[in-house]
Amino acid sequence: MDWTRLPLSRDTTDRAAHRRTDPDLVRDSWAAPGTRVVLVHGAAVATTADRAALDLANPAEVADPGLVLFLGADESGDLMAVVREDPDPDRTWSGLRDCGHVMGDRDSGLATTALALAAWHARHPCCSRCGAATEPALGGWTRRCPQDGSEHYPRTDPAVIMAITDADDRLLLAHGAAWPERRFSTLAGYLEPGETPEHAVVREVAEETAVRVVDPQYRGSQPWPFPASLMLAYTARAVTTQITVDATEVTQAHWFSRAALAAAVATGDVVLPTRTSVARALIEDWYGGPLDAGDAPR
Ligand SMILES: [Zn+2]
Repeated sequence: MDWTRLPLSRDTTDRAAHRRTDPDLVRDSWAAPGTRVVLVHGAAVATTADRAALDLANPAEVADPGLVLFLGADESGDLMAVVREDPDPDRTWSGLRDCGHVMGDRDSGLATTALALAAWHARHPCCSRCGAATEPALGGWTRRCPQDGSEHYPRTDPAVIMAITDADDRLLLAHGAAWPERRFSTLAGYLEPGETPEHAVVREVAEETAVRVVDPQYRGSQPWPFPASLMLAYTARAVTTQITVDATEVTQAHWFSRAALAAAVATGDVVLPTRTSVARALIEDWYGGPLDAGDAPR
């Protein structure tokens, strides 16, 4: 497992952050030859029909662009994103879970960044200090309040996700209360203020399953813009195996041997998380290779 190449962690685009302070950045970049545009609608991007590449637009094709974001540049020119209220029906619109793992490095990175940034703008229209409507600035990388001049930065919320194994090298997988039936995955949870990721690993496992774990080891990370998470992947060892689920967030949790998990996946009794996810990488890293059946439908 190459933890530096998780599906959504392969961004290759130069973000060219030094250009963001140029007040004419958006106008000039939009008009520059070679500029290509990622089209965003809700939580989807325009892709080719096979979802393996972005369907990038020329600025001239985009009428009434709305919110425009400067994503950066590559050797062919600038890269921008626009948020479409009304999606062009002739294009294929794909959620990141469906296309992130099949796209190449550049497009996966662009899609992840565009969707993360667009999601932040959509959820933060107003100033958190005074309530006034804020305006995009710095090519879409901040919002400014016209009333009190405060500047607001995009949020990224760190979360831990962890493969817990016991002394027999069985893997702990759980079923979340809000998930489709038979979906099982690794435990995960958000960091709380004042907490390290290692502390959150131990706390979340204890809260959700009553299993006590030690020795959290960092593996890798990837953005998960649904809408604003950064997933920090860990492994940790269980020193107890008795499971008591919290029944609020987690309704079932079981220890799986490799043979038991392979069998459950083959029969459909366990549906694994999408190949785009860190959870899938953690599970297959423990398993020792791909688990072929059981891909989640979405
Ligand atoms: Zn304000």
